Amino acid sequence: MENRRVALVTGASRGIGRAIATRLASSNIDIVINYNKDLEGAEETQKQCEKIGVKTRILQGDMGKEEDVNLIFENIVDEFGKIDILINNAGITIDGLLISMKEEAFREVLEVNLFSAFYTMKLAARIMAKNRFGRIINISSIVGIRGNAGQVNYSASKAGLIGMTKSLAKEMAKRNIRVNAIAPGFIETDMTHKLSNNIKNKMLEEIPVGYFGKPEDIGNLVNFLVSEEANYITGQVISIDGGMNI
Ligand code: NAP
Repeated sequence: MENRRVALVTGASRGIGRAIATRLASSNIDIVINYNKDLEGAEETQKQCEKIGVKTRILQGDMGKEEDVNLIFENIVDEFGKIDILINNAGITIDGLLISMKEEAFREVLEVNLFSAFYTMKLAARIMAKNRFGRIINISSIVGIRGNAGQVNYSASKAGLIGMTKSLAKEMAKRNIRVNAIAPGFIETDMTHKLSNNIKNKMLEEIPVGYFGKPEDIGNLVNFLVSEEANYITGQVISIDGGMNI
């Protein structure tokens, strides 16, 4: 029987997560689709992956809660016996200026965007170390590098992911586990759809290529970074932003 790689993509019910899941499926990788609220969206992702011909499993869970993450990993090990690839993609924004930001808004964004990666990477790294193979990709953001007014909480979470990526890359390199971060610029998804036209037009002026990115752009980069062609890349933050961060 063919022994395919197994990938967990968190927050795969739409947007960038769905594009990553379907792109990895097209590389013949079995996909665990995590979502928190949008079952219908997760089922659509599953349909698209299964059409390609890989095995899939949908696992609900709030990635910001350690008990949910523990259960998800128990299920993955029961069903697939391993995890080879972990994509920490689940993320939220609760924007506002620091002077009026409630502690709750800071905490919730940190829990979903950053603590989630602490919980998942800890469990995944143990399994991957035993198997002497692992690829971990953390979806950070240009905002984690440059900061952004109104996003103190979000930028802290995304900068935190970068620090964790580099540290874990050093800890795990000898066990054939590669850990990298991706820093997207402006990608057209529900997350950016809610921004005003005024903000979108201002951002467009800052993007040298002159247009917004698509979720598939991120899917393609993830697919490369987990492939054998990227074996010598670890601890890196790869910007994918149409030149916005130049
Ligand atoms: P999106 O369209 O809003 O999708 C977010 C995904 O995360 C959904 O599948 C959502 O699932 C899931 N999610 C949210 N909270 C969750 C939780 N507590 N547990 C598990 N899943 C959860 O966002 P996106 O634009 O695709 O963003 C994906 C990632 O890319 C995020 O980490 C984001 O910060 C990052 N990013 C995006 C951009 C951009 O321009 N779009 C730029 C830089 C970085 P449910 O609806 O089921 O909860």
